Amino acid sequence: MITLVGVNGDYPPTNETGFQAFAESLPDPIVARWLNELEPASPIYGFRAANHIRHYERLEHNPEGFIVLGDAFCVFNPIYGQGMTVAAQQALLLDRLLHRWQDIHKKGFARRFHRKLARQLTIPWLLATGEDSRYPLTQGSDHSPVVRLLHRYLDRVFVAAAHDSEVALSFLKVMQMLAPPSILFKPRIVKAAIQARPSHDFRKSTNEMRRT
Ligand SMILES: Cc1cc2nc3c(=O)[nH]c(=O)nc-3n(C[C@H](O)[C@H](O)[C@H](O)COP(=O)(O)OP(=O)(O)OC[C@H]3O[C@@H](n4cnc5c(N)ncnc54)[C@H](O)[C@@H]3O)c2cc1C
Repeated sequence: MITLVGVNGDYPPTNETGFQAFAESLPDPIVARWLNELEPASPIYGFRAANHIRHYERLEHNPEGFIVLGDAFCVFNPIYGQGMTVAAQQALLLDRLLHRWQDIHKKGFARRFHRKLARQLTIPWLLATGEDSRYPLTQGSDHSPVVRLLHRYLDRVFVAAAHDSEVALSFLKVMQMLAPPSILFKPRIVKAAIQARPSHDFRKSTNEMRRT
C-alpha cells in the first residue's frame, strides 16, 4: 500500500498521472520508482479530513446508555497516526468506569464517561491541532505567540532528535502517547534543543518545502 500525504492545500491527486507526478516531486525518488515498477491492485483512494471534535460532554440532556467514543467523538488528521491509540485508550477508560459503575444505563454514567473522555483527549488534540496550525491555510488555528514559540522550540527538538537518541526517543514517546509532552521540557532536552540549529523554516509553504 502506498500512501502519499499533503498539507496546506498541496494534496496528492487521486488520478494515476497526478499521483505519479506528486511522488516524482518528492526529494527522494524511491516512491516514484515503486509506482513505475508495480502493478496497481486497486484504484487510488483519497481521504480528506480535518481535526474534528464533537463535544458530547457538553450535552445538556445526555440519553442514558448512549455512549460515544472513537472517531464518532473526535477525528484526527490521520497523518499523525493517533486515531487507533486514542480509540483504544477510550475503550480502556470505558472498561475502568464500567468496573466501578457496573451498568452502562445507570443515571449519570454517560455524562461522566463523556466528561472523562473529553479530558483524556486534551493532549492528543493539542498534538494534532498544534502541528496543523503551523500552516497558513489551516482554518481555525491558534497563531498565538505561545503556540508560535512552541513551534520554534519543536523545530529545534526535531533537529536535535536527528543526532541525539534521548531527544529522539522522548519525541517519539510523546507522539505515540506513551509519555506526556512535559518530558520534552526536561533540562537535558531543553539544552539539546537550544544547541540545535534548524536549517529549514517550517513556516515556508509546503510546495516550497517539497522542492528544497
Ligand atoms: C487514511 C487513514 C489513515 C489512518 N492511519 C492511522 C494510523 O496510522 N494510526 C492510527 O492510529 N490511526 C490511523 N487512522 C485513524 C483510525 O483509522 C481511526 O481513528 C480508527 O479506525 C477509529 O476507530 P473507530 O472504531 O472509532 O471507527 P472506525 O474504525 O471508522 O469504525 C466504525 C465502523 O462502524 C461501521 N459503521 C458505520 N456506520 C454504521 C452503521 N450505520 N451501522 C453499522 N456499522 C456502521 C463502519 O463501517 C466501521 O466499520 C487513519 C485513518 C485514515 C482515514
